[in-house]
This record gives sequence, structure tokens and C-alpha cells, in this order.
Amino acid sequence: MEKRQELYKGKAKTVFATDDPHRLIMHYRDDVSAFDGAKLAKLDLKGETNNKINAYVMGKLAATGVPSHFVGMLDERESLVKAMKMVPVECVVRNVCAGSMAKRYGIAEGTKLAEPIFEFFLKSDALHDPLCNDDHIRVLGWATLREIGEMKAITHRVNAVLKPLFAAAGIDLVDYKLEFGHPTDDPDGPLVLGDEFTPDGCRLWDAKTGEKLDKDRFRRDLGEVIEHYREVARRIGVPL
Ligand code: UDP
Repeated sequence: MEKRQELYKGKAKTVFATDDPHRLIMHYRDDVSAFDGAKLAKLDLKGETNNKINAYVMGKLAATGVPSHFVGMLDERESLVKAMKMVPVECVVRNVCAGSMAKRYGIAEGTKLAEPIFEFFLKSDALHDPLCNDDHIRVLGWATLREIGEMKAITHRVNAVLKPLFAAAGIDLVDYKLEFGHPTDDPDGPLVLGDEFTPDGCRLWDAKTGEKLDKDRFRRDLGEVIEHYREVARRIGVPL
């Protein structure tokens, strides 16, 4: 596998082409961002910590039959993934009320939800990722009815795997964001999970103390961000 030109530089990862048009390299940088890129910093060891956590989680999901773009880890900071055409929406599942949902409805953070709540957001930093529903997505052509069904079904399967995985490590999986796409070598096939699963895109609270172990440590200036990411990794069994 030969690494070729840089294709896209996101807020925390850079994507490179390879000699295979259907494979890309995701390079995890030490950059962290919040509030649609308004708050930025560099944190030592973030890239390799997130690369390893993501590889471990995607491996666990694959083992239970959840399809993703993840192919394998190449080195400490890089993973090989399938090239994808992404659906321009973010899927959020909430097991506990926090963040934007707490603000939007005036509900206390930490309120347990009787069932997981699923939300869609349009992916647009310029518009601050507005909440949207199935009709917006379908009628405005961001995804088809079939794709909407697939995103919900896979997201709920992910919850069924990851909630117990974190619970066994004494961690509450409060909420998380997933993104989906079609592999370019199977454009008409079913959607598969893309992007990443790391503490950058989820909320993880210590089950006993409620201590935050995720990117809210950066958003809310709580300090020791990567120390807590690495604590999550150690607890769920990610080799660091
Ligand atoms: N999230 C994310 N990227 C986004 C928006 C949200 O990874 O662009 C994650 C966030 O880390 C949290 C979950 O999705 O785990 C729900 O986020 P929320 O809607 O509460 O928004 P936020 O608190 O980030 O404004």
C-alpha cells in the first residue's frame, strides 16, 4: 500500500489517497477542536490515542457484524479505510440527556432516558449542524428512505454493542455521533459506518463518580483531556 497525496484536512484527521482508488489513509493528528472549529488546540498523544481507540472499537463492532469502512491500523497514527461517499448527516444516539439536547429542551444534564433517543443533524459547520428529521433528509435529497432506515438500524445495533462494552469498564455511554456512507467499490450496496468512534465524538462518564472522560473536558476547560482518553482506553482494554 503506497501513501499518495493529501486529499482532505479535517479538524482532527487528514485523509490521504493510496495507490488503490478504493482505499484511503486516515491520519489522526494531535489537533482538537470544539464549537464548529471556533476553539482549537494541540494535545500531545491525541492522534495515536484516538487511532488506537477507534481501531479497537471498529474491531469490536466488526466482530458482531456491524459493517464499517475500517480496514486496519497501519501505524500509531494511521489507519487504512475504504474510500466512501458520505451521507451529509450526523446520527446521534442518546442514552442519557446531555449537551445540546439538555439545552434545547431545558432538561437537566444527566437525566436518564427510558429508551435511547435518535437524532439527525445536517453536517454543516457554517449552519452549526442544525437538527433535522427524516422528511428534511428525504425531501431535500440528503439520503433516501432506505438509507434513513439503514442509518437508524445500524446506529441502534452499535448501541447494543457499545453500551455494555463501556458498562463493563465502569463507564456510562451517554451519547455519541456516527456517520455513514457507501464504499466507492460498492456504491449501490448497503450503508456502512464511516468516520471514527473516539472520545472526540461521544460522551463517557465514570459510572460511579460521574467524572467526564471525553471531549467535554476540552470544551469545558476541565483539563487532563488526553489523560482521561487514555484512561478510557486502558479500562476497555485498548493496547496503548
Ligand atoms: N458530536 C460530534 N460532532 C458534532 C456534534 C456532536 O461528535 O458535530 C457528538 C458529541 O461529542 C456528543 C454527541 O455527538 O457526544 C451529542 O452532541 P450534542 O448534540 O449534545 O452537541 P454538543 O454538545 O457537541 O453541542
